Amino acid sequence: MNNFTFYSPTEFVFGKATEAQTGTLVKKYHGTKAMIVYGGGSVVRSGLLDKVKQSLTAAGIDYVELAGIQPNPTDPKVYEGIELGRKEHVDFMLPVGGGSVIDTAKAIAIGIPYEGDFWDFFIGKSVPQTGLPIGVVLTIPAAGSEGSGNAVITKLDGLRKLGIRTPEILRPVFAVMNPELTYTLSAWQTASGITDMMAHIMERYFSNTQGVEIADRMCEGVMKAIVNEAPRVMSEPDNYDARANIMWAGTVAHNGTCGVGCEEDWASHGLEHEISAIYDVTHGAGLAVIFPAWLTYAAKHNVGKVAQYAVRVWDVPESDDLQAVAMEGIARFKAFLHSIGMPVTLRELGIENPDIDLLVRKFHEDKGKVAGNYVHLDSQASREIYELAR
Ligand code: NAP
Ligand code: FE
Repeated sequence: MNNFTFYSPTEFVFGKATEAQTGTLVKKYHGTKAMIVYGGGSVVRSGLLDKVKQSLTAAGIDYVELAGIQPNPTDPKVYEGIELGRKEHVDFMLPVGGGSVIDTAKAIAIGIPYEGDFWDFFIGKSVPQTGLPIGVVLTIPAAGSEGSGNAVITKLDGLRKLGIRTPEILRPVFAVMNPELTYTLSAWQTASGITDMMAHIMERYFSNTQGVEIADRMCEGVMKAIVNEAPRVMSEPDNYDARANIMWAGTVAHNGTCGVGCEEDWASHGLEHEISAIYDVTHGAGLAVIFPAWLTYAAKHNVGKVAQYAVRVWDVPESDDLQAVAMEGIARFKAFLHSIGMPVTLRELGIENPDIDLLVRKFHEDKGKVAGNYVHLDSQASREIYELAR
């Protein structure tokens, strides 16, 4: 097991009607004027936004609003939020929504006190030293941003979708998580979220680090729980326990609990980010296409852990023919993705003629000549994976 630092200070407030505590929580973490950030309107239609505002008012917290964050969030809204926050002397960021809204709020949180361009942080030109505190009201279990130290933003100029990771600054101080708020999610968003959380675990699980029994078993256990709960949440969208289990799975998948002490991979996320940057597809659905292709490549070049995944997560019978075991596991993973309505090829995702030259070029521009850890991807390898995903 590798040395590690695990810093996860977020206070998770989980369960029915917890959104009523939002104002008290902002106050507890010393906010006096919050910027509520939200998306295209689901929180208005559900009445959640009004409840959050009432709770802020009851706690004596002032607020301003930044609305209209789109999925796969882009830089113009970040600049708008930085300007608004400075003008209004906001001292607390309050995203109400999913990963897109949270990540926009995170970028604004570090952009407000920074003299330069916030994008410097995403291209590695500068490292955030400070940021406004962030509190989250989560409405979709997927990205795990409510507990992660990461943010992902697309720069429209050049369509670069890049992430940063600075847990000591970007981890939210609190996350309010009421599973009932997720009843209104479409089947597509629910399934895309399930796929994203599976992917967050797999990026950690596929590691060459030895002696990581606790990480392996935690990853496998959470993946199995997701696979068991997924059919229930898809067929009974109002089932509280199914929604609750999936919601918490999304958090533990990405808050660092799974995979401590492992060298992580993250190449599949990089390969997917190019797809969602260029074709604006749902991130989780893009991963449903990329991950089976990546696994197929990985099985060919480093079969060990893929076979272990097949046996322990997908109940494939053990055999000396590790290649066959691995391929059967991948087949079961794909069948699972289909069963929840996810595509497993670019064509099924609606991309008939992918520009693979462009995807490969952008991937290596963003991730370097060689990406990934479990298997190392040069441009020939990444091209093979995009081709496998066709
Ligand atoms: P999202 O993009 O925030 O939201 C997706 C859609 O779901 C939106 O159209 C939203 O509608 C709708 N929605 C959200 N909650 C709803 C509800 N309760 N009922 C009905 N509709 C609802 O989804 P996400 O998957 O959480 O975030 C994806 C982004 O996060 C991607 O850019 C991805 O790359 C990134 N990401 C970040 C991290 C990280 O650690 N920071 C990790 C992985 C992925 P409205 O806009 O109308 O609300
Ligand atoms: Fe993700």
